[in-house]
Amino acid sequence: MTKLAALSGVSVEAERKILDDIEDQFRLEEDALIEITKQFLEDFRAGLGEYNHPMAMIPTFVTGVPDGTETGRVCEVTLLGNHEFSMKQQKYKVSEALKTGEASVLFDYLADSVDAFLTEHSSVGSPISPSHDVANPFDTISAPAVPLGLTFSFPVEQTALNQGKILTWTKGFSAKNAVGNDVVGLLQDAFNRKHLHVRCVALVNDTVGTLLSRAYSAGSCLLGGIFGTGTNGAYVEKVDNITKLGDSQARKEGGLMIINTEWGAFNNTRTRLPTTPYDNKLDRESINPRYQAFEKFISGMYLGEITRNILLALIDAAPKPLLFGGKASAPLNTHYGIDTAIMSEVEEAWESGRNTEIKANGQTNWQSAHFTDVEALGPQDHARLERIRGILVQRLLLDPEDVSLRDAATVRWAASLVANRAARLSGTALAAVLVQTGHAELGGGTPEPKGNIIIGVDGSLIQHYPNFQARLRSSLRSLVGEPVEKRVEIDLAKDGSGAGAALCALQAVKQGL
Ligand code: BGC
Ligand code: MG
Repeated sequence: MTKLAALSGVSVEAERKILDDIEDQFRLEEDALIEITKQFLEDFRAGLGEYNHPMAMIPTFVTGVPDGTETGRVCEVTLLGNHEFSMKQQKYKVSEALKTGEASVLFDYLADSVDAFLTEHSSVGSPISPSHDVANPFDTISAPAVPLGLTFSFPVEQTALNQGKILTWTKGFSAKNAVGNDVVGLLQDAFNRKHLHVRCVALVNDTVGTLLSRAYSAGSCLLGGIFGTGTNGAYVEKVDNITKLGDSQARKEGGLMIINTEWGAFNNTRTRLPTTPYDNKLDRESINPRYQAFEKFISGMYLGEITRNILLALIDAAPKPLLFGGKASAPLNTHYGIDTAIMSEVEEAWESGRNTEIKANGQTNWQSAHFTDVEALGPQDHARLERIRGILVQRLLLDPEDVSLRDAATVRWAASLVANRAARLSGTALAAVLVQTGHAELGGGTPEPKGNIIIGVDGSLIQHYPNFQARLRSSLRSLVGEPVEKRVEIDLAKDGSGAGAALCALQAVKQGL
């Protein structure tokens, strides 16, 4: 028995078992991933066939994808024609009170933000372009006349390019008297109340904006995905397959249409998802229990909270605490008190310099192994754990005396379990889109190569979380096979939703909206 274990009063074996049990609950083997992807495909098809399915599969009425040759000055987004654009933007923070108060107050604030942007940032007669921010999921773009494209990063059942009802709030929003109303109308009413000469001509989800913007830069794009505060994807579908459009004009016209899947609501019954007590606690205490099940496993708003739940369980472990000598702190005791960015810092501290060492050994570099016996690790790992210890003391406001190197290793392990599961599940969503669009077969049968498959992504997780994409890709590889996975190009469409809204506004103006 090591000195540390003797101090805690729990045998190394008993401690290892508790940690192993947690690890087992987060593990996602290949067959589980395949089953989840199959369910995804079933839900995709059901959602294309009927309205009000949890997998909303929202027709966006965006029927063309730009190829990068478009020119024109749209708002502050200037389309340079050669797959490039420039953008001027400003972020405006949405407070908790605005998120949860009256919708009219929230939309007044949005209108005020547009007004402030026009005044502060827009050159005279020049178009405007407030903000893209993960924490502030409203992006608004406008032009001199002043038509405006709104990126609204919530589920909206669209009935036209510039019209759609809010289906539900997500990501901690719950503003009253919004659900069921036309979001364009809500914003337009706010402009009118303030006598602002602005007209909302187009409405896009951030995933659609991301897809459009990536298509503009890359020449084509199959899928726009957001892995940020929330998660969702939009992809290009054959109108023929969108059977719920019935014999509407759009359906008769055929061709292609972008579908906003709203995959964050996948499997709200959670029968297919590897739910742990830490997930159940998160869901129960959330503003929208039983909704956005998939999103709660994946997105930046929630990963820190799942991790917090694991850490609390270890702090409270019986018969003896397994973390921080049984002491918590204000952030640890606060709902959503651990930001996903802290996990990211912890993993970064652990990974830095390891990539090369580990690649040389041919191992993956995001193994989640816990180290009940920290003393067995080498001096370089000790130095990394020491850095993590510093992060924990600083960010979680812990007393340095309460944080051992083993505690640092345990937190790093918990973070990587949660992030790894998130990335692997994200892989199932991508795989489902690839299969649905005929670019892949589940289990790795390889359809005829059709060139590279372009995917545009945005969001804090995919941008900043260490190895998120590598982890996602390893899951994708096991689902669709390496030849297909290798042809998948995943690139950041930075500020994509803003640029996409601009492209859409351009389209709307062309259509005379
Ligand atoms: C919303 C989606 C959005 C995604 C990413 C989800 O919570 O429902 O509409 O695309 O977050 O921002
Ligand atoms: Mg956003």
